[in-house]
Amino acid sequence: MRGRCHCGTVTFEVRPTDGVATARRCDCSLCARRGAVAISAPLDGITYLTGADNLTLYQFGTKVAEHWFCKTCGIYTHHRRRSDPGEIGVNLACLDGYTPFLPEVIVNDGINHPSDGPSGRAGILRFTPEVSE
Ligand SMILES: [Zn+2]
Repeated sequence: MRGRCHCGTVTFEVRPTDGVATARRCDCSLCARRGAVAISAPLDGITYLTGADNLTLYQFGTKVAEHWFCKTCGIYTHHRRRSDPGEIGVNLACLDGYTPFLPEVIVNDGINHPSDGPSGRAGILRFTPEVSE
């Protein structure tokens, strides 16, 4: 898969773990605001074609996860996972030919992160929009 940020400075290729089958949202404090759908890839599964030096890093909390985004257009491209630092999540919306507007996307329980000890749950939530008629 090929991907890019919005302005096109950052372009990359991704070798995903399992195509779009791993598409997830997350409800942690960052992801809930970012709103992106990510797919999984191994840490070495991303190859930058252009603009790697135009990426910048955001970290918070335990500072294990690395959230990368383009300095110019601000688009989140990928992040190194806190739950598995050997893995990255890639912004599905950045990938050529793919849409993040999937009918149903599993939501990881990032509020109760498994790395936060016994109170953390590794479970997943299934978001079901309430339909008013
Ligand atoms: Zn950009």
